[in-house]
Amino acid sequence: MTSIDRIRLPTPFGVGDVNCYLLPTAELTVIDPGPETADAREALRSGLNERGYSVEDVANVLITHPHMDHFGGARRLADEADARVIAHGDAVERLVAPTGQFEDEQAFFHGFLRSMGMPEDTVETLLTLPESYTDFQSPVTPDRTVADGERLDLGVVLDCVHTPGHAVGSVCYRLRSENAVFTGDHVLPDITPNPTLTTLPGRSDERTRSLPTYLASLEKLRTVDETVGYGGHGDRLRSLQKRIDETIAHHHERKEHIAGMIPDSEPGTTAYRLMNELFPELPATEGFVGISEIVGHLDLLDDEGRLDWHETDGVRKCVLAG
Ligand SMILES: [Zn+2]
Ligand SMILES: [Zn+2]
Repeated sequence: MTSIDRIRLPTPFGVGDVNCYLLPTAELTVIDPGPETADAREALRSGLNERGYSVEDVANVLITHPHMDHFGGARRLADEADARVIAHGDAVERLVAPTGQFEDEQAFFHGFLRSMGMPEDTVETLLTLPESYTDFQSPVTPDRTVADGERLDLGVVLDCVHTPGHAVGSVCYRLRSENAVFTGDHVLPDITPNPTLTTLPGRSDERTRSLPTYLASLEKLRTVDETVGYGGHGDRLRSLQKRIDETIAHHHERKEHIAGMIPDSEPGTTAYRLMNELFPELPATEGFVGISEIVGHLDLLDDEGRLDWHETDGVRKCVLAG
């Protein structure tokens, strides 16, 4: 018998609190221990204490995906509790060297963003690592990696579903006995997650096709039997499938909206220009998310054969296919 419990942990990010779930069986398992901040650490400690546990009782630390609001504090917690850290194999390089990963990406994305029509100074601004990044995450080496379809028996049985898109190495954990799925940031109640561009696992010279990958992962999760979702932020999803449908519909609508902004004759337009038209007020700090969104939709339109591209002086422009 399991009962799902949640400790809300504060984060220094715009998204607000992150959910840390507890599976209190013989071995105490936590899913996503939050960022590496004193506030999150204290909230986790006091949350455990209020429930009659101490940090040392934690035996397993599961990570849904390698974003610092979810995993940043994993190493400290695992060290203090002598717990095992478990994550998807594709997440490992980002967990082991989170800032190194960012540096590797910079070189690739510098050229890529320029080819999307972004001016040099804007690219430089976007690709400067915010100082604070290093404060909120500690590198952690998983003790065990999981793969799609793998079953974990931790005193409670969880089935892993690999759901790349929002992040490389994203995994959802199905808890069949409770009709529940822990979705990380793959499906959320109040926000549609950003399938932000990154490089492919094990590669620093090729980007992910984040949005098409994300939508495929949504279709895949849609077929699970469980109907209740527990996301990384916000409250419980009463109908996981309904929320997946809403998320897919949102992206479909946006794709058509963007298609309507693309000229059907030369000289066409760039992803950067589309970003500025769609998000005129976008702050520089959100530029990477903004361009990721546009490129993601252009990838979808490409897959449907609806775009023609041409390149002048290293800058790519698209028009609607005739
Ligand atoms: Zn995330
Ligand atoms: Zn998150």
